[in-house]
Amino acid sequence: MSFYIRIWQACDAAEITKHLLIVGDLTADCAACRELGINYAAAKACPKCGAIFRFIASRNTGKLDRNRGGTVKRIKDRRPDLTFIDYEDYKEITGKEHARNFFK
Ligand SMILES: [Zn+2]
Repeated sequence: MSFYIRIWQACDAAEITKHLLIVGDLTADCAACRELGINYAAAKACPKCGAIFRFIASRNTGKLDRNRGGTVKRIKDRRPDLTFIDYEDYKEITGKEHARNFFK
């Protein structure tokens, strides 16, 4: 039986933003240009800015999302080619970077 476990890895948040697809309830959006309504099951690149997707995250995998295991499986089954990252981790890191840039 297989299950999902998160792996912690050093990363470059700016590099992830250039290649990240963020899945909402039904469709996804591009982290690079914020284009909405992307079909995450099929899109290899953003139809608006052309970003090549290498990472995927879901807004429904937080601690309070009851079926987050099911959400991860559904997305991974459709997109085994993309690296699944944790949306809350991503938000936390990019939020810190925005704050740092703001005070420069
Ligand atoms: Zn885009």
